[in-house]
Amino acid sequence: MPSKTTAKKAKKTAGKRASKAIKYVYSFGKKTDGNAKMKELLGGKGANLAEMAAIGLPVPGGFTITTEVCTAYYDNGRKYPAELKGQVENAIKIVERESGKKFGDPKNPLLFSVRSGARESMPGMMDTILNLGLNDKTVAGLAKLTDNGRFAYDCYRRFIQMYGDVVMGVQSRNEFEPEPFEHVLEGVKKEVGVEIDSDLTEENNKEVIRRFQKLIKDRTGGEFPQDVHKQLDGAVGAVFNSWQNERAILYRQKYGIPAEWGTAVNVQLMVFGNLGETSATGVAFTRDPANGENVFYGEYLINAQGEDVVAGVRTPHPIAQLEQDMPKSFKELCAVRTKLEKHFGDVQDFEFTIEDGTLYMLQTRNGKRTGLAAVRIAVEMTRQRLMNQKTAVTKIPADQISSLLVPIFDTASIKKATLMATGLPAGPGAASGKIVFNASDAEKEVAKGNSVVLCREETSPEDLRGMIASDGILTSRGGVSSHAALVARQMGKVCICGASDIDINYTNRTLSAGKTVLDEGDYISIDGTTGQIFAGHVATAPSEVSQVLAGKMKAEKSYTYQLFDQVMKWADKYRKMGVRTNADSPTQSKAAIALGAEGIGLCRTEHMFFEGDRITYMREMILASDESARKKALKKLLPFQRKDFSGLFKAMDGRPVTIRLLDPPLHEFLPHDDEARRSLADHLGVSVDAVTERVHALHEENPMLGHRGCRLGISYPEITEMQARAIFEAAAQVLKLKKKVKVNPEIMIPLVGFQDELDNQVGIVHRVAKEVQKDKGVKINYLVGTMIEVPRAAVTAAEIAKTAQFFSFGTNDLTQTTLGMSRDDAGSFLGKYKDLDILPQNPFATIDQAGVGALVQLGVDGGKSTNPNIKLGICGEHGGDPQSVKFCHRAGLTYVSCSPNRVPVARLAAAQAAIEAGA
Ligand code: PEP
Ligand code: MG
Repeated sequence: MPSKTTAKKAKKTAGKRASKAIKYVYSFGKKTDGNAKMKELLGGKGANLAEMAAIGLPVPGGFTITTEVCTAYYDNGRKYPAELKGQVENAIKIVERESGKKFGDPKNPLLFSVRSGARESMPGMMDTILNLGLNDKTVAGLAKLTDNGRFAYDCYRRFIQMYGDVVMGVQSRNEFEPEPFEHVLEGVKKEVGVEIDSDLTEENNKEVIRRFQKLIKDRTGGEFPQDVHKQLDGAVGAVFNSWQNERAILYRQKYGIPAEWGTAVNVQLMVFGNLGETSATGVAFTRDPANGENVFYGEYLINAQGEDVVAGVRTPHPIAQLEQDMPKSFKELCAVRTKLEKHFGDVQDFEFTIEDGTLYMLQTRNGKRTGLAAVRIAVEMTRQRLMNQKTAVTKIPADQISSLLVPIFDTASIKKATLMATGLPAGPGAASGKIVFNASDAEKEVAKGNSVVLCREETSPEDLRGMIASDGILTSRGGVSSHAALVARQMGKVCICGASDIDINYTNRTLSAGKTVLDEGDYISIDGTTGQIFAGHVATAPSEVSQVLAGKMKAEKSYTYQLFDQVMKWADKYRKMGVRTNADSPTQSKAAIALGAEGIGLCRTEHMFFEGDRITYMREMILASDESARKKALKKLLPFQRKDFSGLFKAMDGRPVTIRLLDPPLHEFLPHDDEARRSLADHLGVSVDAVTERVHALHEENPMLGHRGCRLGISYPEITEMQARAIFEAAAQVLKLKKKVKVNPEIMIPLVGFQDELDNQVGIVHRVAKEVQKDKGVKINYLVGTMIEVPRAAVTAAEIAKTAQFFSFGTNDLTQTTLGMSRDDAGSFLGKYKDLDILPQNPFATIDQAGVGALVQLGVDGGKSTNPNIKLGICGEHGGDPQSVKFCHRAGLTYVSCSPNRVPVARLAAAQAAIEAGA
């Protein structure tokens, strides 16, 4: 992911280039100026159109207006660079020459499609206009030329509708009003007794056109433009403007695409899939993007335009059927499939049109895929030598490896479940949740803590927020490349599309199939791997990978596990950083080891006291008002701690175990409600008032910056002493077991800001270590180090490293203290910060490289300057975030530590970081 700084740099360069009057328009077709490497300038679509044209695939000619124009357009108050007009005119002439048609010529009109094309594809987020160049005169020419009046007026009707909506802004004025053009169209269809658009005659379409033009006049006061150059200007402007529409902005935020990138505009000769029964249009993937299988995958519609396929209005045919319908084109398409994969070295998602038996390629891009598909494709393409290992590792979004660990339905529960219907499996995994019918209800229910399945006839980009909130998405219409399917796959959501047996009634708020009728709020369960839909709640069970890892399934029985294992082996081969886990119990530790953890990077000892009676002893210790009371409580805690640590040491079997001494911001542990205070009072044999009084005495205005971390151990050395004793006694116990287990504790002091604080605590640890070793007659290998989680520690790291044998960056607190933003309260304003692009990503999830990252780097460099062999890790939540992991690699850390489920993500991200750095 590019940083904001890179984007800003790009913007500056664009500014400089703009002032030098450079090339803004790149042709493709017989004459091709660009290539696939020019995505920044030409956008993904433009660059790949150029590449396809250059390798001899049948691409209708056209030109790309660069992303720099978009940037300049927004920088200059929505005005174009002066040179653009002339360059566009020249490019039109080239298309005219190559095609033998003329733009605006009533006898032989050249028609264009106008489409957006950002650097990264943003499916359905921006505007598109087709059939541009038609007007009252050219439409007659087109009718004559094709000898097909119905077709020509159908195209004109569609063009006016798109143009009127997108460029002239004729849209519903409120949520109750129907889409105005559709309303007119439906009216005419009803009057003439026709059900589907393609059954409208030439005369019917002329009537629709007349009413459309009147609608535009009534609504805007202006005429639908007859000048084709004016049409083009309007369409190009609309595409640039759509870069800043609400859904495009939301999409960019979700996927971290900087606004500065801008979009290109592709203007391309129209070819027609709706010219009759010998024409078709379709979309295809070179492999199955849902599960990665090496099969030709896609769908098409005969006698239709491209938008009909993706809009999900008519349900398209599977691509295999084309072999019967149009054998010659199918053969050509299969050859294109092979050529594309070989040339681009990755799965391609492409659009094609067959115009009267001639195949044309309209677009290709790397196919978006589910996590499962990404893994399978990477492994199988490497076996086929279409990809090399390093590319394969970098091709799998590290985050998505976790989708192989997603739950599946519990076998016992699914047997009892009622199958309602089946749809197209479009996003794997199992989801169960309450039925909601729109995006805002989805958000509301999720805010209440419920899981939901968003059920729609079909989804549109307006549903994006609801899709983000939902666990699963179910649509009754549309194919596997419909909006719902594309977006769900990219988000890793469980999704079923085109479940045509399901009837969704928005008015009654019901979802039914045959006799089964479910209401809004009822549970529904969907399996996005098989396409099955069940009424009611079905419990979910761990994935095959998890089952193999837990020893409940044999590895040979699960191909998914074998794929996962292969990728993890590659990841381990290339990564340079270690991967540890944050775990506080043997169960968590074992789960993490199964996922590849090489040690514990953070055991939060206070978490060991959440269970059962222990919280009472912990509170007794915290609330103790004098040393003797505290010592009494600590004595009770010691055996628990010792037992916990020996459990951890045994589970970790010689791997390093980083144990952090007590660091409780006190408010997390104080008894807040009456019940808790009463029970504590009973336990201590004191009055509730006495407890309440002590709680008040300990109250802190700002507990996160209060009496916590090493400050506790400094105020009450007996706490550090008890914990050190528990660690070393547990180590001695385990070392003496009959079955030998090695022990490598790494004792970590929290919230250090001064070398003297660390010296104070380290002194106690070494003294206790000496006593226990002497007492038990064993030698224990241990390290003592510190967390770096306040800015002062990072700044004075050179001093602190003279005492510390290791650093672990606690980037949760370091983010909190560097940004001065509370970890607990930042949620209330971070949304706004994101909207305004002040902080495009949540800094508690993805490390703020420029601020917190700079301090980490300072800490690394300082630490190494006085202690060249210092071990350097990270144990904040960022340790499981791919972007942050990559940052850690660049910063020179020894390992990252993250929650158990993120371990595979961190392994893969660490390998990607090493490969990206040129390993
Ligand atoms: C941290 O601050 O990053 C850290 C790991 O410690 P905790 O989250 O327990 O404060
Ligand atoms: Mg911390």
